[in-house]
Amino acid sequence: MMSDHSQNQVSSLLRKKQACLVSEETDQTPAASPLEKDDRFSTLHLAVLCVCLPGLVLYLLNKYVAEDGSQQLAVATLWDLNSFLILVGFVLFQAALYLLPIGKIVKGKRIATGERDDYCINGFYAFLITVVVLGGLWFFDLVDVTIGHDKCLQLAFSGILVSLFLSIVWFLKSFTIPKEQLMNYRKKRNFVQEFCMGRELNPKFGKLNIKFFSMLRIAFIGWALFILTILAEGVERNGRVSPALGLVVVFQLFYILDALYDEESILFTKEIVNDTFGYIMTFGEMVWIPFTSSLQALYLVHHPQELSYLQVAIIIVIYAVGIFIYCHSNKQKNNFRRDPQDVAFTNLETIDTGTGKKLLVSEWWGWLRHPNYLGDIIVHLAWSLPCGFSHIIPYLQLLLCVRMLIKRATEIEEDCHGRYGAAWEEYCRRVKYQIFPHIY
Ligand code: NDP
Repeated sequence: MMSDHSQNQVSSLLRKKQACLVSEETDQTPAASPLEKDDRFSTLHLAVLCVCLPGLVLYLLNKYVAEDGSQQLAVATLWDLNSFLILVGFVLFQAALYLLPIGKIVKGKRIATGERDDYCINGFYAFLITVVVLGGLWFFDLVDVTIGHDKCLQLAFSGILVSLFLSIVWFLKSFTIPKEQLMNYRKKRNFVQEFCMGRELNPKFGKLNIKFFSMLRIAFIGWALFILTILAEGVERNGRVSPALGLVVVFQLFYILDALYDEESILFTKEIVNDTFGYIMTFGEMVWIPFTSSLQALYLVHHPQELSYLQVAIIIVIYAVGIFIYCHSNKQKNNFRRDPQDVAFTNLETIDTGTGKKLLVSEWWGWLRHPNYLGDIIVHLAWSLPCGFSHIIPYLQLLLCVRMLIKRATEIEEDCHGRYGAAWEEYCRRVKYQIFPHIY
């Protein structure tokens, strides 16, 4: 048995080795000493989130689907074996598609524990195959295309059960790996913190990288299928696609397809590089994103809104502006990080950070420090507007998005300041606003 002192020495050597590995590849630097960071959530906060978030999802879904008396929110009606099998079947089918030898395998950024994993980039194909298979099943009358809408409460409830079960599995599995490979292993954290926030940075099941898989395949493809089934319900009820519903569905599908098409860029996000995978993230990807992101479409099926040509035109312009800022700023930074020598960047001003990386300080990234967040917020506004102003729920996602992105901007800036020091301060001096020009 190693003494505590020896263990500390081993840990310290391991950290130094990780730091060396990181500096060998200048574009692979993880956030400043992530192992030293404080926990962002208190135990009470986490316990409340664990209980309230699943309840909130069920409440919100029920608010719409039960209004016409078709469903009631009672535990006895939430459990449905068919819905459970559909949800599990969807997850297994996506897992099988992930493992198919289509698309490409890419090496991810070196993550905070020092590993550099392989990822299978075929999310866009997975989505197309899923739609074709479901279309075929619907064509041959083997599945009811509105089932996702009709059983949304039961599907969400199944998602809550499955995410709870999987979180227990990841949690128990994390005890089988050396503790030095866990994030925050040196910190004293209680059971609630470890279970909710997770212990392992990047749990794997064979070749399946669970966190990466959950973030786009389960969350985004699940969301796309859910809005398609809501669209089908809208057509069945009203005999046509109303302009308001059509706008929401097209806007959201475009956003989802863009994310799936450029799946590789997710490998650079803080979720993949720094965040552990626990109950909160498992639930978020399996339940929160697919079901709450579809609330606008669900609202419109149950509260149809008429829009004038002028309103349609204004909403399209708002969305076009938002998605343009969102896509272009994201692509500019991602391409710059992939290949800073590209001719596209030769005339752009940059700040040298002294770490081998530069910060863009012109065009999008010279206008705001998070132009992509502003684009994201405008996009969220555009797909809430078709719902009118008589109810707050279609705007809930927008409000949460604003809150989350403001918080995220602060966290990312703390990391960048830790890594780039004076260069980041110079960047903040030259680019004064984070998200909203002249406001914030
Ligand atoms: P970003 O894509 O903005 O990435 C931040 C990183 O970019 C920094 O850590 C730094 O990394 C690099 N960077 C920052 N400034 C510059 C600069 N001037 N020049 C070059 N590189 C710079 O953040 P996220 O990963 O948070 O977001 C990715 C997308 O996902 C966004 O579009 C966001 O809107 C979206 N998102 C949406 C959410 C929602 O709820 N709607 C939630 C989360 C994300 P480094 O220097 O290490 O390369």
